[in-house]
Amino acid sequence: MSDTATSASIDAFRAETRAWLQANCPPEMRRPVVNEDDTCWGGRRWKFQSDAQRQWLERMAERGWTVPDWPREYGGGGLGKEQVKVLREEMRALGCRSPLDSFGIWMLGPALLKYGSHEQKLEHLPKIARGEIRWCQGYSEPNAGSDLASLQTRAEDKGDHFLVNGQKIWTSYADKADWIFCLVRTDFSAKKHDGISFVLFDMASPGVTTRPITLISGKSPFCETFFDNVQVPRGNLVGEMNRGWEIAKYLLTHERNMIGAIGDRGASRPVAKIAAAKIGLDAAGRLDDPLLRAQIAGFEVDETAFRALMERAGDLARQGDINPAFSSVLKYYGAELNKRRFELSMQAAGSDGLEWEGERSTDGALARAWLRTKANSIEGGTSEVQLNIITKRILDLPGA
Ligand SMILES: Cc1cc2nc3c(=O)[nH]c(=O)nc-3n(C[C@H](O)[C@H](O)[C@H](O)COP(=O)(O)OP(=O)(O)OC[C@H]3O[C@@H](n4cnc5c(N)ncnc54)[C@H](O)[C@@H]3O)c2cc1C
Repeated sequence: MSDTATSASIDAFRAETRAWLQANCPPEMRRPVVNEDDTCWGGRRWKFQSDAQRQWLERMAERGWTVPDWPREYGGGGLGKEQVKVLREEMRALGCRSPLDSFGIWMLGPALLKYGSHEQKLEHLPKIARGEIRWCQGYSEPNAGSDLASLQTRAEDKGDHFLVNGQKIWTSYADKADWIFCLVRTDFSAKKHDGISFVLFDMASPGVTTRPITLISGKSPFCETFFDNVQVPRGNLVGEMNRGWEIAKYLLTHERNMIGAIGDRGASRPVAKIAAAKIGLDAAGRLDDPLLRAQIAGFEVDETAFRALMERAGDLARQGDINPAFSSVLKYYGAELNKRRFELSMQAAGSDGLEWEGERSTDGALARAWLRTKANSIEGGTSEVQLNIITKRILDLPGA
């Protein structure tokens, strides 16, 4: 369907989509996400948590609905933006979980669609869409975080391949990922933004090692990643040599949109429902804690406003009328909202929320998730850096 679909065809699409989701989304996949295992990341080594999780991924992937807006030839659903919006609305209405979460979908896919060769798209995009290959992001280094363009990982041009040496850090899920999209320096004499290239390689390549780092939550979602004479075939260079910074920045706008979207998780983590289950309702059917009720109501108003803002950003993007730096607005505010959501959930849970370990699989999940949200305003570029970008590129403030 195209973007110029009529309202009658949209209505028909909505009815069909609703019926299909009702028939195909297993009931277990309509329950709120409770812990990290409820999220399906896919990949060669992925172990499904249940048959329902597997079925849900397979059914959605078969329709191309893990990436509904990607072209069909690359494993997508070929839907227009209006249809994608309808699909998301209907999934939200039924409480459907995302069938597949992945850096391939959120970050690499959009970058490959714009900058990859046809062969690279055919090689990588369908595997991302089906959840067969899990990707990680090799951007940050010990001395290149906010100042990412200072990265020093070196890739020497050896003709048919590059020889990569260096270290990345904070590489999320590097120990679980199959492939990496990686920023490397290919010209040390050029200005720092001009000597960077964007390459892809298999994490099973000889010379790649990872060392997990433990977070405050007790979990280890990221690693130090080392490259020791790793041979990367020349065909794995995306775009032009030494022009990787442009791709890196484009990918970051998608990463920031994705992180921003965690601000709008009402369907899978409804705070009011979690609070009602813990605290109970009064005779009028309202949350039996007036203070918390008011805070949650305020939060839900802001969450709804944020959802509207994201939709508006999507509409403007469709018209090609959005400042790319707007992703920093979404990232900044979405991160703050998600942190607030978990503060409220912890408040609602009371002392139970502090439980760290126990016999049930959900024990400790809330406290760990709450602590994990502290990183939302760091990952994908810190809040301070987003505010710098907003003052400079959107507000055009003097001296910015
Ligand atoms: C959970 C998590 C997952 C991550 N996953 C990945 C990943 O998969 N791949 C990857 O490559 N990286 C990843 N990162 C790294 C992340 O991108 C960096 O942590 C982030 O860009 C900040 O860089 P830094 O940690 O080096 O902090 P620094 O850049 O050293 O910043 C330190 C402090 O100084 C402030 N600061 C720095 N420069 C400025 C400035 N110009 N103006 C105002 N304040 C400034 C920062 O806001 C921050 O408070 C992840 C980080 C986290 C927390």
